[in-house]
Amino acid sequence: MIIATDMPEVAKCAVTQCAFNTDDACHARAITIGDGANPGCDTFFDNSQHTDSDRTAGVGACKVTDCSHNDDFECSADSIQVGKSGNSVNCLTYSARH
Ligand code: SF4
Ligand code: SF4
Repeated sequence: MIIATDMPEVAKCAVTQCAFNTDDACHARAITIGDGANPGCDTFFDNSQHTDSDRTAGVGACKVTDCSHNDDFECSADSIQVGKSGNSVNCLTYSARH
């Protein structure tokens, strides 16, 4: 079995109420981002208890085919940042294809 370890890093996440967030960083093993033209964080989990993990999350999959960093349903950016955008929890590295 091969497990991918070359995922883009979640360099920062400002969504402190998420269970995977401590110290403005995401500590899930991997996250999944959005769909279509919506770059929301699918892994967001609003919870009072937070993970003890100190690993840095990777972007395991991204369904935002409208993003210029998306290649074959995966993210090809070096790293991404996640934060609030209005009422949504979004990948802030999203860049619409022209
Ligand atoms: S990137 Fe998503 S899963 Fe990770 S801490 Fe932020 S909102 Fe939560
Ligand atoms: S930068 Fe684009 S391809 Fe990468 S996770 Fe964000 S929305 Fe998806």
